[in-house]
Amino acid sequence: MKEIVVISGKGGTGKTTFLGYLATVMKDKVLADCDVDAPNLHLMLKPKIVQSERFIGSKIATIDDTKCSGCGWCIPACRFDAIQSTGNPCLGRIKIDADACEGCSLCARICDNGAIDMKDRYVGDWFVSDTSCGTMVHALLEPGAENSGKLVAIVKQKARMVAMDQGLQLILVDGPPGVGCPVISSLSGASIAVIVTEPTSSGLNDLERVLDLLHGFKVGAAIIVNRCDINVGAADSIERMAMERGVDFLGKIPYDDILAEEMAKGNVVDDRLNCPAIDAMRQCWERLSALLEEL
Ligand code: SF4
Ligand code: SF4
Repeated sequence: MKEIVVISGKGGTGKTTFLGYLATVMKDKVLADCDVDAPNLHLMLKPKIVQSERFIGSKIATIDDTKCSGCGWCIPACRFDAIQSTGNPCLGRIKIDADACEGCSLCARICDNGAIDMKDRYVGDWFVSDTSCGTMVHALLEPGAENSGKLVAIVKQKARMVAMDQGLQLILVDGPPGVGCPVISSLSGASIAVIVTEPTSSGLNDLERVLDLLHGFKVGAAIIVNRCDINVGAADSIERMAMERGVDFLGKIPYDDILAEEMAKGNVVDDRLNCPAIDAMRQCWERLSALLEEL
């Protein structure tokens, strides 16, 4: 089974636009939207949810006031300052700051009265959906919630199971931006990572970081420069850098008002659209397709 992960190093480079195009031209695949903090592939593909599951990100400490003696042992034990005395027994002697609690369970272990219980913390949902481009596994994490890497791993695992059930050999992954834990999780088992970047100094800087990450994890990379005409010199520099680092360069996509208008309407962008950006995406796809054959 092959897995193509489309990443960007930074947000807003047009990663999901290109992935949406790939979703329309690639056959017999499962889609996995691993950008769980800020997913937007569903805006294009308008999925019909067929399975929905809650995601337990971690645990949270809860106090049983009827068992708490107010001894205060748990307060200094919490290194995250999540436990405070209320100063008013009528309100319960102790309270937990849910935002500060990291779910480490230390307080529950040291409470001799058994007054602290660790409960599941639901911080999001994941879904299996039907789309016009095939089955999509996707998720949504609550704002500010942690453990997005764990949720990404669930999305990928479920996508692999769907692919096996349907007898498909390809998974197309919309990866998260950046180089953090969710990106690393999305790259697990990747056959190739396609990096969509832009010709700006921050784009170049983030590209270098993401290439170093891929090198560390021994995942092959291929680069696309989106909106290449906003800085032709920088776009050329990225192409040269790709050559120097021995990274495949798939092509450059120009800024295109027609494409931008279709995206603003929430439409899928595919080969029916007659514009320079789609022509460039088609060439990128043809080169990527050739690379996949070699894998
Ligand atoms: S250690 Fe247990 S009994 Fe003591 S204050 Fe904390 S929760 Fe209450
Ligand atoms: S579970 Fe850990 S972080 Fe949460 S309140 Fe208890 S000691 Fe603090």
